[in-house]
Amino acid sequence: MPKVLFVTSEAHPLMKTGGLGDVCGSLPAALKGLGVDARLLLPGYHDAIRRAGKLRAVAQITIPPLAQPVTLLETVLPGTRVPVWLVDFPPAYDRPGNPYLNGYGHPWHDNAARFALLARAAVAVALDKAGLDWRPDIVHAHDWQTGLAPALLAREPERPATLFTIHNFAYQGLFPRDTLAALGLPEAFWSHEALEFHGDLAFIKGGLVYADRITTVSPTYAREIQTPEFGHGLDGLLRHRAEKLLGILNGIDDNAWNPARDPHIAARYSAKNFRPKQKNKTALQKEFGLPADARIPLIGLVGRLAHQKGVDLLLEALPRLMKLSVQLVLLGTGEAGYEKAIRDAAAQYRGRLAARIDYDEATAHRVEAGADMFLMPSRFEPCGLNQLYSLRYGTVPIVRRVGGLADTVVNATPEALKAGRATGVSFAEARPETLVAAVRRALALHRDPKVWRRIAATGMGQDFSWRHSAAEYLKLYDELIHSGSPRAGGSDGRSAKGSRGKRAR
Ligand code: ADP
Repeated sequence: MPKVLFVTSEAHPLMKTGGLGDVCGSLPAALKGLGVDARLLLPGYHDAIRRAGKLRAVAQITIPPLAQPVTLLETVLPGTRVPVWLVDFPPAYDRPGNPYLNGYGHPWHDNAARFALLARAAVAVALDKAGLDWRPDIVHAHDWQTGLAPALLAREPERPATLFTIHNFAYQGLFPRDTLAALGLPEAFWSHEALEFHGDLAFIKGGLVYADRITTVSPTYAREIQTPEFGHGLDGLLRHRAEKLLGILNGIDDNAWNPARDPHIAARYSAKNFRPKQKNKTALQKEFGLPADARIPLIGLVGRLAHQKGVDLLLEALPRLMKLSVQLVLLGTGEAGYEKAIRDAAAQYRGRLAARIDYDEATAHRVEAGADMFLMPSRFEPCGLNQLYSLRYGTVPIVRRVGGLADTVVNATPEALKAGRATGVSFAEARPETLVAAVRRALALHRDPKVWRRIAATGMGQDFSWRHSAAEYLKLYDELIHSGSPRAGGSDGRSAKGSRGKRAR
């Protein structure tokens, strides 16, 4: 069975800011269930060390250009048997809070060095140079934070195969040109065929150009990112590597997200025993200071308050939405301007719209359980997890038909309703009017309890556990292992024209 080293900047419950943390916290355990020897390497953040159970220092490695050695701390991912190595280097990682941003919401000034260190630690473990007596067959790296790992490994004559997964293409890890020398990276990386991207160094290109295979988290997003509309200027490179690119839908941790066993919610329920869901609605209305009315439809929204998530569309649509008979509960953090606009809206529509500007896992569960509907008007969505949680919780998703949302929510068209396949409401265009129209459509369906129950039950009957997707990763790992050596080290990727991405998540 394959030995796989997951290299990632997040893994729930040690560290999570979004879907990346969910996936790297649940996929390795699912793979382990299939017999894969999956292990994790992630930064020894202050909070990760605090949240980990017993820690044991198992290795000290010297990683140039650092003078002091780096310690690898061994533990297991809480609640699983998946081994974890935390890269302990306090000057880089001993900071509480967000792994990418400082307290002012700006990227940490040394992010390039912090994530180059993670990649170099990955190379040391991958080549069994850390004294762990374990050599992976595959290094599975995730998002820009780990992009240098496949790039550095490609320079090694004897190396494991590499796989790079894109969880969000909008974040590319762009740094000024002089970062290359400052980090002591090979000069050969400074080329359009390598990591240069319009005059910047793009960590993500390390994965896109050099990894043996690339995946992203839904089939539709895999197609979308090869187009200028979703490609953030790198669609040309992806078209060039299209044969190596595959979309595998994310699964969910169905133990953590299970309304029949959820410890965070007021009343447990299932598709067969759906009535207690009502208690969660009442509890949520009370918690958020909304009138506890069983009949008024309650829409929930949980997520990063970012342009990606269509927050601007929602804000524009609010005057029209708030004329409808509906309540809205929002939980999120993100861009300061959106946070303020939502606070203002909550004041303006008191009693109809309630918001909590916070990041809180337990509240997220209570919103999923208590709302009747869940809104995701995303401009793009690589996979999206909240709609999957919503389906599992019988909370009918209203989504924009992009990326993973298009792959997982069956729009309640007359045909889909008749065939008993409908699981939600989806809309195509990113405009406030289409959003309002979709909500109106959901409200109309909600008026007929029998129809509504059927849609919710159909959603609850879907299997979005890791069972299928982990098997797809296993198949890919097998292909990678049997594709033979010596490793070619990815392609001769080339940079593509277009817009510039953001500097850091
Ligand atoms: P993304 O990774 O783009 O942020 P996903 O839908 O893939 O979006 O995953 C988001 C994850 O982060 C979900 O598990 C969601 O519940 C969680 N999440 C986002 N914002 C919050 C918040 N404010 N409080 C609690 N959980 C949140």
